[in-house]
Amino acid sequence: MRILLIEDSAALRANLTEQLEHAGHEVDVALDGRSGLLLALAGDYDVLVLDIGLPRLDGIELCRQLRAQRGTGPLVLMLTARDTLEDKLEGFAAGADDYLVKPFEGAELLVRLEALARRSSRKETAVLVVEDLRYDLGELRVERAGRTLTLNRVGLRILRELMSVSPRVVTREQLELVLWDGYSPEGSVLRSHIYALRKAIDVEGLVPLVHTVRGIGYRIAREEGA
Ligand code: CA
Repeated sequence: MRILLIEDSAALRANLTEQLEHAGHEVDVALDGRSGLLLALAGDYDVLVLDIGLPRLDGIELCRQLRAQRGTGPLVLMLTARDTLEDKLEGFAAGADDYLVKPFEGAELLVRLEALARRSSRKETAVLVVEDLRYDLGELRVERAGRTLTLNRVGLRILRELMSVSPRVVTREQLELVLWDGYSPEGSVLRSHIYALRKAIDVEGLVPLVHTVRGIGYRIAREEGA
């Protein structure tokens, strides 16, 4: 694997680099967040091993900016000295794929990296297509009639459910199960997500594709005769 290690502690950096290289990986290093981000954006890395406490730009912010600028990009394994749920949630919200709490053994890092790599090789590369609507699941990019649409995470999840069974209907219950583990925040929350999705997809001048099936759910398709 091509690994970018972003860590300001010289001792840890030297130690990890040695172990990773010994295991056959190619390792580049960055000593602070700012140069780490530049390298991550420019390079072709499989994984970032990213310390959270870094000078010039912390790991959380680095991850957030990387995801914003490169879409899916490389996998990110975060290193932190603190083991609290809040830290983990913050890391995952910023786009981290895994988490390791210091101090850890080099062997554990290797196991985690291999597990991550296995996960990413299964990463979807499929593209869903319904009429002129196109959803690249690998890149998380949605286009309609050649124009890129901006959708949030929930919108993307709903779209994937609808497009993968199109032209069939997906029930509200199915969507709630996928989105919120069956727990519905409130009936109107799903409706407002669908509203936003429809607004993004069915723009003026194009054939409407997002349809409500009253009392049942939603479907994405070109209606008969449309
Ligand atoms: Ca540090």
